[in-house]
Amino acid sequence: MIIMQSNRCICGKVITNGFELCANCTAEYGLDRTEWPDWLRFLVADMKRERRQDALIEQSEISFIDLGILDN
Ligand SMILES: [Zn+2]
Repeated sequence: MIIMQSNRCICGKVITNGFELCANCTAEYGLDRTEWPDWLRFLVADMKRERRQDALIEQSEISFIDLGILDN
């Protein structure tokens, strides 16, 4: 099973360029996060934390299957 993790921008758009912001927001705020306003840095950090939690949940689901605890 392939798990697609969508990278979402703070504006709700799916990010396809590998950055932390979509093309529009990158054009608006720039890539240098030290120049971002506080609220923007906070939001981006918050989105990253959510993604990390999702990844941890997926990992533990896989290990349960590997251990034979869950039926396939
Ligand atoms: Zn955006």
